[in-house]
Amino acid sequence: MIDPFGRPISYLRVSVTDRCDFRCLYCMAEDMTFLPKRDLLTLEELDRLTSAFVDKGVRKLRITGGEPLVRRNIMWLFHQLGRHLQTGALEELTLTSNGSQLERFAAELADAGVRRINISLDTLDADKFKTITRWGDLGKVMAGIRAAQAAGLKIKLNTVALKGFNEAEIPEMLRFAHGEGMDLTLIETMPLGEIDGDRTEQYLPLSTVRARLGEEFTLSDIPYKTGGPARYVEVAETGGRLGFITPLTHNFCESCNRVRVTCTGTLYMCLGQEDAADLRAPLRASEGNELLSNAIDEAIGRKPKGHDFVIDRQTRKPAVGRHMSVTGG
Ligand code: SAM
Ligand code: SF4
Repeated sequence: MIDPFGRPISYLRVSVTDRCDFRCLYCMAEDMTFLPKRDLLTLEELDRLTSAFVDKGVRKLRITGGEPLVRRNIMWLFHQLGRHLQTGALEELTLTSNGSQLERFAAELADAGVRRINISLDTLDADKFKTITRWGDLGKVMAGIRAAQAAGLKIKLNTVALKGFNEAEIPEMLRFAHGEGMDLTLIETMPLGEIDGDRTEQYLPLSTVRARLGEEFTLSDIPYKTGGPARYVEVAETGGRLGFITPLTHNFCESCNRVRVTCTGTLYMCLGQEDAADLRAPLRASEGNELLSNAIDEAIGRKPKGHDFVIDRQTRKPAVGRHMSVTGG
């Protein structure tokens, strides 16, 4: 699959549910309306849809959400998709999780062929963790991290940089992650969906964070890539890797290799644009994959050049109405 700008599409993110057991302040409003259950694809349909993308050249799959591990029987899907690793059709099967259910599932994920996972963690302070997730328990996430380590999974921590909330804690989080052999990636908050607070009060440019970290640590750019949008540095003092995902301060769309499909079978060609293609109708219209394959090709043929994110006091509206938890992070 090649898009109109010549970018090969080899990476699919699948949001298996828009529901979550947390309500992170930058991600969701406290009172959310979720997609009606009747609109969801079954796990069998998600397997068929995802496998059609693998047949069309997707080499890397990330299962996400919402919180993917709260979807009932989700391990079945991981085991099914694991077959593509065995045939060599797929290079990597991975997931992004808030960690709350990992203690229960880490060993089984490893069993299904998952080797690396991203765990989102915005603070190491239990009270602050409760504040930012509204409903989360840091102890459970830490237990999840331990279980993932014990299962031999390679972990990357994802931290959304938030002004006045965790900016002073970033050096400590870096030392913690690297001390535990985990990579750390910092993310700029993106204007996706209505939340209760004001994003201009949360937004912290990573250019500022990097400059500050540079006063304390020796950061050297390295060409390391994981297939996602992060740019990495190596930190001399810790020997670990630190990634920066900078949708606001440094646009990375020119190298975009990704598309996203939601739990209702909607394909989004860009996280930051409204345009989408319905794949549920062609998926259900016949048992063969021809209609589906045509619908995917047609959609990839209109993948936009990039997002137009802005966070400032004049721009009150989010870039797109849907939350990150719908499209999948
Ligand atoms: N629930 C899982 C988790 O938190 O890891 C997976 C889905 S979550 C939407 C994926 C990632 O998106 C998380 O790292 C989260 O911090 C990040 N995220 C959510 N809303 C965001 C926003 N508005 N801007 C930037 N990152 C966001
Ligand atoms: Fe849930 Fe992840 Fe969104 Fe937090 S960032 S509310 S854990 S989907």
